[in-house]
Amino acid sequence: MPKDSKGFISDFIFACHRRCPVCAKGKIFTKSMNVVDKCPECKAPIGTHDMGDGAVVLLLFILCFSIVPIVLILNATFSLPLWSLAVIAFIIGAVMMFVFLPMIKTYILLLEYRHRSGTDWEDNAK
Ligand SMILES: [Zn+2]
Repeated sequence: MPKDSKGFISDFIFACHRRCPVCAKGKIFTKSMNVVDKCPECKAPIGTHDMGDGAVVLLLFILCFSIVPIVLILNATFSLPLWSLAVIAFIIGAVMMFVFLPMIKTYILLLEYRHRSGTDWEDNAK
């Protein structure tokens, strides 16, 4: 992935593939959705990222602003019992978390690689 951006859509598609921002080939997540220490392809030290809780906080905003209206619409439309709404909200939240959290982490890694000064991932690769 080149350092220059081709736009948000291009970056979003890149984030969907969950690949290394330096070489765009190596898988960057372990099975537990943690970022690997080094890219398996180019050996870039992407484990030194400074993401913090940014990805989780952004995902929480997205989940809160999407699940609550869905549950309110379901309640107004079907008058479901409260426990079933809680189960539906939990399932939707869990699925969205497993789908979107790696994408958001990849996007933040891409932005960090592109804009953070002092990121020497390319220099330390290979
Ligand atoms: Zn790589």
